[in-house]
Amino acid sequence: MAKQDYYEVLGIPKNASSGEIKKAYRKMAIKYHPDKNPDDASAEEKFKIAAEAYEVLSDSNKKARYDQFGHQAFEGNGGFGGAGMNMEDIFSQFGDIFGSAFGGGSFGGFSSQRQRRPKGSDLRIRVKLSLEEIANGVEKKVRVKRKKQAKGVTYKTCSTCNGTGQVTRITNTILGRMQTASTCNVCGGTGQIIDNRPPNADSNGFLTEEETVSIKIPAGVEDGMQLKVSGKGNAAPGDGISGDLLVAISEETHPNLQREGDNLHYDLYIGLPEAILGSAVEIDTVSGKVRLKIEPGVQSGKILRLRNKGIPNINGYSKGDFLVHINVWTPKTLNKEQKSFFKKMLKNEHFKPKPESSDKSFFEKVKDMFS
Ligand SMILES: [Zn+2]
Repeated sequence: MAKQDYYEVLGIPKNASSGEIKKAYRKMAIKYHPDKNPDDASAEEKFKIAAEAYEVLSDSNKKARYDQFGHQAFEGNGGFGGAGMNMEDIFSQFGDIFGSAFGGGSFGGFSSQRQRRPKGSDLRIRVKLSLEEIANGVEKKVRVKRKKQAKGVTYKTCSTCNGTGQVTRITNTILGRMQTASTCNVCGGTGQIIDNRPPNADSNGFLTEEETVSIKIPAGVEDGMQLKVSGKGNAAPGDGISGDLLVAISEETHPNLQREGDNLHYDLYIGLPEAILGSAVEIDTVSGKVRLKIEPGVQSGKILRLRNKGIPNINGYSKGDFLVHINVWTPKTLNKEQKSFFKKMLKNEHFKPKPESSDKSFFEKVKDMFS
């Protein structure tokens, strides 16, 4: 069948101004709008053709080519000329032309519901990660049970909803006529129903198969975050697209480390002699061992900062720090000899506390921050 002339589609003369073209399209679009013509395939077709005509005639370049070459101007170049526009394209490109005719809200919802390829349901799993895995990124292999289309299954378009997956109903309420869209219960919203299925397939034509899915987890994820592995959910009927595998991140409690955003906190315990004489210790960070020098006379509560030894930021721009909290460990019991030594020190002026500003306790430091 020959394609209808775009000017005829919009009912305008060839010398129509851009304002007249827009006005004509708006009139057509409202007349054949799917909200006004539920389940009317011919109205939908007219709605699409009008959008196609407007797409060409509202663009001065395309209009010039069309005026010179007709429909041939757009054939075989991936543009118009056969497939036309789908509903989502029309709404996203020309949605504003309807103005308030349909009320923006319901309109957007409609466009995203309609003419969509059916999508299979999502699968959800939870993956437990250690802080080390979070700090370095990790590839996890998980076993999932996915529904897949059985071999030999065929589908046909659901005649109840004409493949849209939605049925619209007009109901009279005290507020006037209301249009409600609900999921088609014949096809379950997929727009497709089984035509033929092998005996081992379920009523949707699916087989459940176990599959190993590899998930690349980037460094810096957090407890409660969700990652998406596209297309690794359940299959959809017909030519639909598979759902997604949604991976919830769960962070294991670390025996020695506490996470605070991208920073890590570590409590280091040193003995009284080390605190007095100084020492060197080896600390396990999430990115390997680090040797840390403890200066003689270090105070309990002091925080040593290992820059960039924390968790990489999920956005990849920075890295957190590893904060070592010094705790001087005091023995609870002493033998006679030790006791007499410390008793002597008790009277020694040198062992009386003389805190300097850098020795302030944690709470004093916090107080300083806010004052
Ligand atoms: Zn249906």
